[in-house]
Amino acid sequence: MNTSSLPRERLKSSRPALTFGRVDRGIARDWWRKGTVLLRRLESRGKIAVDRYPRVNSCMSNRYVIIRALGFTLVAARSTIAAAQEPIDRAMIGRLQEESRAHSQVLETYRTLTDEIGPRLTGSPAFKRAVDWTRDRFTQWGMSNVTVESWPFGRGWTLEKLTLEMTQPRYFPLEGYPEAWSPSTRGLLTATPIYLGDKTADQIKAMGATLKGAIVLPQPPQEGDHLITADRPQPGDTEERVRIGAPPMLRTEGLTPVRDMMPILQQLGVGLVLRPNQGQHGTLFVLGNPKTKNDAVPSVILAAEHYNMLVRLAQHGTAVRLNADVRVKYQEADTSAYNVIAEIPGADPALRNEVVLVGAHLDSWHSATGATDNADAVAATMEAMRMLKAVGAKPRRTIRLALWGGEEEGLLGSKAYVDKHLRGDANSAARDAIAVYLNDDPGMGPTYGFYTEENAGAKAIFDEWLGALGDLGVTRNPVDKIGATDHLSFTAVGIPGFTTLKDYRDYDVRTHHTNADFYERVSEKDLQQSAIVMAVFAWQAAMRDGKIPRAVSQ
Ligand SMILES: [Zn+2]
Repeated sequence: MNTSSLPRERLKSSRPALTFGRVDRGIARDWWRKGTVLLRRLESRGKIAVDRYPRVNSCMSNRYVIIRALGFTLVAARSTIAAAQEPIDRAMIGRLQEESRAHSQVLETYRTLTDEIGPRLTGSPAFKRAVDWTRDRFTQWGMSNVTVESWPFGRGWTLEKLTLEMTQPRYFPLEGYPEAWSPSTRGLLTATPIYLGDKTADQIKAMGATLKGAIVLPQPPQEGDHLITADRPQPGDTEERVRIGAPPMLRTEGLTPVRDMMPILQQLGVGLVLRPNQGQHGTLFVLGNPKTKNDAVPSVILAAEHYNMLVRLAQHGTAVRLNADVRVKYQEADTSAYNVIAEIPGADPALRNEVVLVGAHLDSWHSATGATDNADAVAATMEAMRMLKAVGAKPRRTIRLALWGGEEEGLLGSKAYVDKHLRGDANSAARDAIAVYLNDDPGMGPTYGFYTEENAGAKAIFDEWLGALGDLGVTRNPVDKIGATDHLSFTAVGIPGFTTLKDYRDYDVRTHHTNADFYERVSEKDLQQSAIVMAVFAWQAAMRDGKIPRAVSQ
C-alpha cells in the first residue's frame, strides 16, 4: 500500500457527507490544494494544529482528514460565492457586439497580414513589415504607449527561387518547400536520386565520393500510419477529459536515423536532401531551425506522395533524373527580432498600474501565409483593442496587447519580454502587477473558451464570463493545461496565463504549419467572434476588484 495516498483516499470516502455536487477532478484537486493552503495559514497563525505528517499516526491522521475536509468545504463554498458575485458588464458586451457589427476591421487586418505581408518567418523582411504595419495601426487607432521592443534573434531567411522537377522517366513538377534556414544548393543540381533508407551508417560512409553533390532520399516512404489522419479531440465538445494538444510528429526512420545520418551526409558533401512529411493529399508540414549552419546540407520537404513515388522508382531500378535548384538568402543586416506593444491605459488610480496582458504571435512559418497560425489571432486581438478603444472603454486596469515574434522558434519573443520585465527579484512588483495573461494561438477560427490550466479559481471566474457569451457559440473552459504557446512564458514565473480553446477541424491534418494555411481557412464571422470574446475577457479582467487568482503551487 502506498501510504502517501492515505489522506486523499480518506477524504474521498468522506465525500458523501460533504455536498459538493458534481465537480470535475481538476477542480476537486485544486480545492484540495486550497484546503491545504488554508489550513497551513490557519496553523501558522496558531489557530489550529495540523499534523504535517499524518501518514505515520492514524489517530492524528483522522483529525487531519477532518480538518482538511473542513478547509476543503470552506474553500469550495468560498469559490461558489466568489463566482456567484462575479459581476458581468452586459452593457459593455452589447456595445462591443454593436461595434463589431457596424465597424469591424478585423477582416482587413487579417487580409493584410496574410495576403499583403505574407509569411512572417521571424527575422525575415516580411516579419519586420508586419511589425511596422501593426505598430502603425495601433498608432492610427489611438492606442497609448505603442512600442516595438527588440531582442536578439539571429539571421533571418528568405526563399528566393525554387526548382524541383523530375525529367526522367517523364517530366513531372515536384511539390516541395525548403526547410527554413536551409542553405542554397550549389546552383542547379541535375542528378539521379539515391535512396539511403535501407543503408546502415557504415554503408553510407562507404559510398564516399559517389554521394558528393548527390540528391538523396534518406527515409523510407511516408505512408500508412505515418500519415496524419485525425485532428486532436475537441475538449469543448465533452465533459470528459480528452488528450490535449497537437498529435505527435510521425517521422519515418530507416536503418540510420535522420539525426545520425545528417552529419555523415554533410561530411560527404551531399548536394540536397529530399524528405517526406506526415501530410497527405497535397498537404506539407514544413518547419525549420534557425540554428542550421550555412554549410549544412540543403533540405527540402516533399509532398509524401511525390517522395514515395521517387523511392519506389529508385527501388525498382527505373532511371530517374531530377533538377533541383534552391536559392535562399540569409538576412544578416538586422539580427534582432521584435515584439509590438500597445495599451489602453487604466483609469482607476488604485489599479491602473496593474495590467491585463493580451497576446498573440505575429510570426509564422513560410510555406503558406500563416493564416491560422497565427494571423487570425493577431487580427482578433488587435480588433479587441480597437473595439475597446472605439467604444470609449476606460478600464480600471491597463489593458496591454503584445504581438510576439519568435514563437515558432521556441516562444522566444514572450520569453524575452518576461526576462526583461517580469523575471527575478528586481521585477517582482511588475510581475505581481500582471493581473492575468490571455493568449490566442493554437487552433483557428472562433474562440470556444480558455484552457484554465488546473486553476480552479480562474475557472470559476471565466465560467461566469463565458456564461454571458452564450449567443456567440462559446462552449466551455476546460480544466486542462495546454502546452506549446506563449502563455507558458508567463506561467513559468507564476503569472496566471491562459490560452484560447479554438476550432481544430482540419487544423492538425490540414493547416497547422502547412502549405495550406491561407486566408480561406478562417471566416470573418469567426474572426469577429474571437475578437469579441477576447475584448470581453480583457474588459472583465480589467474591471473586477481582484486580479485573477494565481495558481496554487503544486
Ligand atoms: Zn505554430
